[in-house]
Amino acid sequence: LASLEAHPDPSVIDVSGVKIGGGYLGMIAGPCSVEDRDRMMRIAESVRESGANLFRGGAYKPRTSPYAFQGLAVEGLKILRDVGKAFGMPVVTEVTDPRLVETVSEYADMLQVGARNMQNFALLTEVGKSKRPVLLKRGMSATISDLLMCAEYILSQGNANVVLCERGVKGFDSVTRNLFDVAAVPVIHGLSHLPVIVDPSHATGKPDLIPPCAMAGLAAGADGVHVEVHDCPEQAKSDGPQALLPEQYRELASQMKGLAELL
Ligand code: PEP
Ligand code: MN
Repeated sequence: LASLEAHPDPSVIDVSGVKIGGGYLGMIAGPCSVEDRDRMMRIAESVRESGANLFRGGAYKPRTSPYAFQGLAVEGLKILRDVGKAFGMPVVTEVTDPRLVETVSEYADMLQVGARNMQNFALLTEVGKSKRPVLLKRGMSATISDLLMCAEYILSQGNANVVLCERGVKGFDSVTRNLFDVAAVPVIHGLSHLPVIVDPSHATGKPDLIPPCAMAGLAAGADGVHVEVHDCPEQAKSDGPQALLPEQYRELASQMKGLAELL
């Protein structure tokens, strides 16, 4: 179902009115974790003004350590929904457990399946039964055909609204958090009609590498860019060291708009 043979034209996915794919760019921005309401409002206002059309934030965080901040759960979902409504931005948030799909679907416009859960088949089956569009991130050690098979799990349950995300794979050099596989974008476009976005934040883990990788992703044909933004990275509950400041996102968004006009 994900293949070009099944569907030769690029799919356009509608996320509560924001289109992604077939020439429409999904500009997703926001902090790694949903934090307090005022801070979320400030960040959302700023990224929307810069041109982001979808707001992100995790209320359920898949953390390496069980002792690290795990997210605000339902309280976070409520904040995210309210912030999205306040600024007219559909919201994207991660769902980490099949038992949470129903709850997260009540609050979110788009469900994220994170890299660590790409092959959680019970979760894929459950989001496949949901009516919400899904942002499916490539696992850090997954091949492109693994990723497409995971999309197939969702599509085969009747949910056709899947957007894929290249967020870097494990590399041998710790100079970047992951290895940004920019070629994945045209490779996937050659195999599938599903939109593909890039996430240079998790791919590189370094703010100064985010703009060049975001631009490279767009130049390679990406249908959108996912960037983590925080107004006070030192205080962020997760992924602070890779966050762009709102003013850095504004600069990047204007460069991305310029490039998109040329493409
Ligand atoms: C995230 O989006 O904050 C996240 C945890 O991403 P990934 O699953 O790509 O690591
Ligand atoms: Mn993150």
